[in-house]
Amino acid sequence: MKALKERILKDGRSLPGGILKVDSFINHQMDPYLMRQVAVEFIRRFASCNITKIVTIEASGIAPAVMVGLLMDVPVVFAKKKKPSTMGNMLSTTVFSFTKQKSYNVVVSKEYLTADDRVIFIDDFLANGNAAKGIVDLCQQAGAKLEGMGFIIEKSFQHGRRVLEELGYRVESLAVVDSLDNCQIKLKQE
Ligand code: 5GP
Repeated sequence: MKALKERILKDGRSLPGGILKVDSFINHQMDPYLMRQVAVEFIRRFASCNITKIVTIEASGIAPAVMVGLLMDVPVVFAKKKKPSTMGNMLSTTVFSFTKQKSYNVVVSKEYLTADDRVIFIDDFLANGNAAKGIVDLCQQAGAKLEGMGFIIEKSFQHGRRVLEELGYRVESLAVVDSLDNCQIKLKQE
C-alpha cells in the first residue's frame, strides 16, 4: 500500500519505547479516504474467506473495522473495555496493553459473537500480538471461526506475527515498520 507507506513516512512520528505516533491520520484525527483505501486492500486480501463478521477492540480498531464492514456488508463488533451495566450474557478476556503497560479486561456480548460466525480481526497496530490473542480467546469461547487478522501497521521488531502464526493464524499487514531507532522510521521494502 504505497499511499499508506508514504503517509507514515510523511506524518508519522517515532516516539521513545518503540511507539509510532500516527495521530494525524489514524489514531486521533482520521483520514477517511486513506481508511477506505486500507479497507479495500484488506477486502482484496481476505476475498476468498466467507466472512460474516468483523471484530476489533475499542478504540483505535473501530474506524478501519467499520470501513471494512461497510464495504463487505457485514456487521462489526468491538470488544468493549468497560462492561456496560445493561450487558447480560458475555464473554470476557484479559489483554495486556503494550502502550499502557498494564492489563485490562474486554467483553463481548454472547449475542454478537457466536459459533455461526466466520471472523476477521482488524486493528490499527500489531506489536506483540496481545490484543489479537485476546480476540483469539473470545472467538474460541464463542466457537466462532477466526479466519485471519488484518493490521494497518505491523512493527516487525516486536514479535506479534511470530506468536500469531505459531498459533496457526493468518496475519496480513499493510505496512511493516522494521525499525524506529534514532527517531527514524524505517519501513520494510516490498
Ligand atoms: P499488541 O497487542 O500487538 O502488543 O499491540 C497492539 C495494540 O497496542 C494496538 O491495538 C494499538 O492500539 C497499540 N499499539 C501498539 N504499538 C503501537 C504503536 O507503536 N503506536 C500506536 N499508536 N499504538 C500502538
